[in-house]
Amino acid sequence: MFKEDTIAAIATPSGYGGISIIRISGSEAFEVCDRVFKMKKGSIFDVPKNTINYGHIVNKDTNEIIDEVLVSKMCEPHSFTAEDVIEINCHGGMSVTKDVLTLVLKNGARLAEAGEFTKRAFLNGRIDLVQAEAISDIITAKTSNFAKSAMSSLKGDLSSKIDEIKADITNMLARLEVTIQYPEYDEEDLTNNEIVELINSMKYKLNKIISTFEKGEILKDGIKVAIIGKPNVGKSQLLNALINENKAIVTEEAGTTRDIVDEVVNIKGVPVKFIDTAGIRNADSKVEKIGIDKSIEMLEESNIILFCIDTSRALDTEDMDIIKMLPDNKEVLVVLNKMDLNTNVDTVKAFDNYKTVEISALKKEGIEKIENKIYELAGLSEDDGVGNTLVSNIRHKNLLIGARDDFDNAIKMINEGLEVDLVEIDINAALYKLGGITGETTSEDIIDEIFKNFCLGK
Ligand code: GDP
Repeated sequence: MFKEDTIAAIATPSGYGGISIIRISGSEAFEVCDRVFKMKKGSIFDVPKNTINYGHIVNKDTNEIIDEVLVSKMCEPHSFTAEDVIEINCHGGMSVTKDVLTLVLKNGARLAEAGEFTKRAFLNGRIDLVQAEAISDIITAKTSNFAKSAMSSLKGDLSSKIDEIKADITNMLARLEVTIQYPEYDEEDLTNNEIVELINSMKYKLNKIISTFEKGEILKDGIKVAIIGKPNVGKSQLLNALINENKAIVTEEAGTTRDIVDEVVNIKGVPVKFIDTAGIRNADSKVEKIGIDKSIEMLEESNIILFCIDTSRALDTEDMDIIKMLPDNKEVLVVLNKMDLNTNVDTVKAFDNYKTVEISALKKEGIEKIENKIYELAGLSEDDGVGNTLVSNIRHKNLLIGARDDFDNAIKMINEGLEVDLVEIDINAALYKLGGITGETTSEDIIDEIFKNFCLGK
């Protein structure tokens, strides 16, 4: 058991509210509590574990009552940190909360660092690193589906999938060891074909986890949608209709949306970030050129591209240039705008083979169709994240990909006829990376970095 000093912090957000919670954790949590908490009868030592107890926080030096409170008592190892934990529910005023904390700190506790409670839960072995990160994800989740997916990680679903591959690797390493050490026991030996087969089956499991990343990232951070099109086709107007306010500048002069303007809209519970890019064209002005370069960058970063067309006009070389630039690896939705004007039939017909939606940004007609299409193109469905584990953490993704590269290397070695010892090195490296996800092989620096990004009191 990891034993350290007793820490305390305010666990609730600062501001005014019904209650605030001050959490105390460590081997002296009950002593610290006893020094500041007065019950009608007896002390916190006398009450059973997992109870909530009424009383007052009192400065025993001056006999001053600071607040009327409820105090929960949890005993190690059955608490959040797996240590003795006290939670003081005091009134939610900012100054009273601070006064209670100050008194607790004067009576033997140290102010906790960001994420220190969760770090202790991890160091005490109550949760692994994936579960600790899931707690942070639940707290910061912007969508309920993402929170559900994080909850599944907290339950240990992702960890158990990784543990399964780690067990496969350990198994295989044991058999490889026999093959290397005791080549005379032929029947135990792994043939090269068997080794490749085993590695491929582990790689298959890894790939299944890696393939959830795109959806996981979308649920976590939202969908990024770039709006492109030549000047004056109605991009700003469209953005305005989408966000229902007038942040982007709408003007009749071509080439004025020089800066990238973005807004986040909530579509069916998913944050969608719309990025209005500078009109792409052969710009003369330097400022505009910078805007155009940025637009091209935005295309790379986005999940979906809305390509805006003015259907009242014939297509020209500027539209054609943009069509040529559209990346193959992105979903493109062609927005046929200005349908309230006389329609140029050839312009509309030119997009017969594209995914299209007909709208009038000016009259705010067809906007909902765009929203539905975005949801659909992002591959989302209402029950995403419910009961399925998604990888959404870039640290996990990189380690998973690293482990897959190690597997590929191992297979390559075998195909090149190299010694099995060398294969063992790669397989061990994969095991080390997977251990880095769950925490067994993660360096102290990385662990510190992960918990530093947690909020205070967590
Ligand atoms: P951008 O340069 O692509 O951002 O284009 P803007 O959004 O600034 O629009 C250029 C002009 O087209 C403005 O005068 C808008 O009012 C007009 N416009 C935009 N959308 C529509 C539409 O759906 N119908 C009509 N009639 N005019 C539109």
